[in-house]
Amino acid sequence: MRILITGGAGFIGSHLTDRLISEGNKVIVMDNLITGCIDNIKQHLSNPNFEFIHHNVSNHIHLIGQLDWIIHFASPASPVDYLQLPIETLKVNSLGTHNSLGLALAKGAKFFLASTSEVYGDPQIHPQTESYWGHVNPIGPRGVYDEAKRFAEALTMAYHHKHKLDTRIIRIFNCYGPRLRINDGRVVSNFIKQALNNEDITVYGAGEQTRSFQYISDLINGISKFMDVEYHEPINLGNPEEKTVLELADIIIKLTGSKSKIIFEPLPVDDPQKRLPDITRAKSILNWNVKVNLIDGLKTTIDWYKQSKQ
Ligand code: UDP
Repeated sequence: MRILITGGAGFIGSHLTDRLISEGNKVIVMDNLITGCIDNIKQHLSNPNFEFIHHNVSNHIHLIGQLDWIIHFASPASPVDYLQLPIETLKVNSLGTHNSLGLALAKGAKFFLASTSEVYGDPQIHPQTESYWGHVNPIGPRGVYDEAKRFAEALTMAYHHKHKLDTRIIRIFNCYGPRLRINDGRVVSNFIKQALNNEDITVYGAGEQTRSFQYISDLINGISKFMDVEYHEPINLGNPEEKTVLELADIIIKLTGSKSKIIFEPLPVDDPQKRLPDITRAKSILNWNVKVNLIDGLKTTIDWYKQSKQ
């Protein structure tokens, strides 16, 4: 197949590129590198089945030749990034999604949208099922990401219903692993960086807010399975094991053997208090489940940060 991955130089997009190339597909990565990194895809640059196009998909996309899939993963995704890039985040998920859907229609390609657990906002239903409509503050700082992804889902469904486009939507819960930028501000990268440098571990709020952390290979397995299943409603992909942020800090201190102390900093505005995926749908529709437990995934990730000297 010939596949376009927008945001393919990012953390998740580059792992998906690795998988699709290894399966013998032709992959075109389109990325403007505002949060992605060419280093993530350098292993493919001389491969004739791979092409990199430096382009912002919020602007019109021109691409010659047939396409089987457009996989739309372009977007800042770390809260720190989207707070610094609010307009870019809104544009790539609205205009960028529109351009990508239009290209899919023109090429007769299937379309795959990376959505997010952030569509549930600060959820009042726990764990979050796909049928939950969410609890999002549209004008809060996270609204630039949450509302843009909600719009992207709405637009994708509109193309599916109106134009009969063959679409997929995943809602990705917190994901970590090698290539998660050490300075991207997310909790796993922050805590590992701080622990490896014996710096204070910055827990926001009282650290009682919860998340669950899926390892990158589990997410890539889920995406790969979903490409083969014709199903158009959103599917949650995430680890169903809930941890508080304080628990995560303790685990990372132990795994790194760090001398770091935990300090408490203010909780960011609208930080979700609880987050946990209900993955019943992924299990039944995709026959998917997580395989990598948190300790093993964190060990691999810590080793990668040490080796890559990030
Ligand atoms: N967090 C923290 N310390 C940090 C970075 C994040 O306590 O140095 C908390 C943050 O407030 C949130 C959770 O960790 O409750 C996950 O944050 P992240 O930025 O990874 O992503 P989110 O799940 O909020 O999108």
